[in-house]
Amino acid sequence: MASQNPVAEAPNIWAVAQSQFDHAADKLDLDDDMRRVLRVPQRELTVNFPVTMDDGSVAIFTGHRVQHNVSRGPGKGGIRYHQDVTLDEVRALAMWMTWKCACVNIPYGGAKGGVVVDPKKLSIREVEGLTRRFTTEISPLIGPERDIPAPDVNTNAQTMAWIMDTYSMHHGYTIPGVVTGKPISVGGSLGRNEATARGAVFTLLGWAKAQNRSLDGMTVVIQGFGNAGSIAATLLAEEGARIVAVSDSSGGIHDPSGLDPARVGGWKREHGTVVGYPGADSVDNQDILELPCDILVPAALENQITRHNAPRVQAKVVAEAANGPTTPEADHILYDNGVFVIPDILCNAGGVTVSYFEWVQDMQSFFWTEERINESLKGIMDRAFAAVHDMGQRHEVDMRTAAYMVAVARVAEATTLRGLYP
Ligand code: GLU
Repeated sequence: MASQNPVAEAPNIWAVAQSQFDHAADKLDLDDDMRRVLRVPQRELTVNFPVTMDDGSVAIFTGHRVQHNVSRGPGKGGIRYHQDVTLDEVRALAMWMTWKCACVNIPYGGAKGGVVVDPKKLSIREVEGLTRRFTTEISPLIGPERDIPAPDVNTNAQTMAWIMDTYSMHHGYTIPGVVTGKPISVGGSLGRNEATARGAVFTLLGWAKAQNRSLDGMTVVIQGFGNAGSIAATLLAEEGARIVAVSDSSGGIHDPSGLDPARVGGWKREHGTVVGYPGADSVDNQDILELPCDILVPAALENQITRHNAPRVQAKVVAEAANGPTTPEADHILYDNGVFVIPDILCNAGGVTVSYFEWVQDMQSFFWTEERINESLKGIMDRAFAAVHDMGQRHEVDMRTAAYMVAVARVAEATTLRGLYP
């Protein structure tokens, strides 16, 4: 897979996901039959589909929907639009969703979807056409009791509204629970848009508390200024932290005296990138990871912290708002250097947790206050952080291995209790 990281060897992330699983399975002493079941995705669908472009021509796109495991409930996971999407990437992301949902103990399995496309090169109408046709192509797999998509890289609430509408048109009535991350006016949940970032901040507060410290005055570097990264900047600034650098796919900005997240957000809305923000130095997307700071938040794509740059990471804690930003080799280096990693399947699980609340609200047609949502999210994230931290201390393992041990044990237990059909 092509990577945005020029120095990385871009390991195949499906191989990475399987090796992370193998490591946890060893620690749990999981039997061979269970390993063979959990090591592979249960269902994979690849579709090639036509979309009429604005100039009247027809373009063919390729997409995937993968369900890794549905032992604990329906498949759950986002759909991403990106030019580098591959089936292996979607497999890895689906497997990570299984562990993520189990890690925070919500009743879902893991799934993921992706379409090979750079949506920035399409008009809104073309993106809508692509979304509606992709929904149609994967509709044998999805459904509120089967597999529930959500936003991911380059998809948003509008994309989810089109998926919900298309699926509902097929059935002849409105089915909001088929997808989460929708706009509030069509069955979305308060707090969902902020949930990934808010959950990540709860895990950082958990880390700080375990060290008897507070986030007040800590310096923060954020790679990625999309939904997770930009909102994390705002929420961390509210905790008193100082945001010293942020980046997006075009490049980054650095100001050791502190950036105002709201003003940077305004600049990005106006110019399409954070690059050029007045008064800040420019920094590239790789160098940003090596800047001096207390908290590093990778909030972009996979394979960003690798064995090449991990020795130069200066942060005390890495909060993985992105999925798969750290390779296993980099994990070892960070651990040996005393850098505390809050792994993706814990750190960014706030998004899917509020997706779960959205789905529950849709199924009951009864909508909660934002206060109830944020309190419930805090309860789930705090319990998950404590369970993972405790597992890590008891077995003297890093937080990623501990999170996997918590999650894999839950999925293995459900699989064992259900037994094999037929
Ligand atoms: N795409 C997000 C993730 O990777 C959210 C998934 C969801 O809400 O289902 O966790």
